Amino acid sequence: MTRSGSIILCYHRVAEGVEDPFQLCVTPANFAAQLEEIARHGEPSTLSELSDPSQRPRVVVTLDDGYVDNLTNALPIAEAKEIPITVFVTSGDVGGRRGFWWDRLGTLLRSRPPGTHEICLPTSEGTVRVGLGSSRPIVDLQSVRRHLLPLPVAEIHRLLDDVSEQWGSSAAPPPDARSLTASELVQLAASEMVTIAAHTVDHVRLRGLPAQDQLDTISSSRKDLEQLSGQAISHFAYPYGGLDSFDDCSVDAVRSAGFETACTTIPGNAKVTSDPYRLPRRIVMNWSRLRFRAGWERWRLVPQH
Ligand SMILES: [Zn+2]
Repeated sequence: MTRSGSIILCYHRVAEGVEDPFQLCVTPANFAAQLEEIARHGEPSTLSELSDPSQRPRVVVTLDDGYVDNLTNALPIAEAKEIPITVFVTSGDVGGRRGFWWDRLGTLLRSRPPGTHEICLPTSEGTVRVGLGSSRPIVDLQSVRRHLLPLPVAEIHRLLDDVSEQWGSSAAPPPDARSLTASELVQLAASEMVTIAAHTVDHVRLRGLPAQDQLDTISSSRKDLEQLSGQAISHFAYPYGGLDSFDDCSVDAVRSAGFETACTTIPGNAKVTSDPYRLPRRIVMNWSRLRFRAGWERWRLVPQH
């Protein structure tokens, strides 16, 4: 590892992303340009190589959630550029047709009846009303998302079904925003460039959940993915990944489930002194080569602690 440390990059989707309110998509052209920059200025690496000595800063490319475009769009580019990628798969969504709840929420708010000024969420702890109608759709999305995030994932889907029925509007995710099927996961895992890693069974926010529940979803995702892929699963990423999305119980559970590392989305460079179960990452957006290079310059300038 160099003095300024290694950089772990966090992507989600590599797609044109016509409907992409949460800005999860990087276009294939920008992804290719970004990987070229990584190869030019860094040492493309896997998470297991993170602490090995290197002349150039190690760079690990990770993709979260397990979208199908990781296979169809990201993999061919990674293979062409010979850059390893790590894919954190939400194991319970493999082969799932329902879609991730944030993609469903995006459709629901877009297709709401004209003049709808609030969303009414009949949660198990009472009805929550959230005002809508900001001139920027992302503001509405974020305010509804904030209320849904702490709930069990099954309840979030039930609430989305309820509102979809109330409004007579679709809550189907965009067709291209689907997760990998089991056979697609096997195909992805078969590439020498790919490390499959875990991301819980259902993408629940772990923070505050009973320790046993956390351990169950963390270790089951590992077991399920090992069975599906036929490979050892050694790395984990906390869903959402910020300080408010996991706690000490999550870290203990990841360690006792036998993982080598766990990634957060807390920004920073990974240092020799970094806790392997709280590794920082840099979120990459749909940046051009030039914009990515600017980000790279900034990340490398992070002062030493
Ligand atoms: Zn995720």
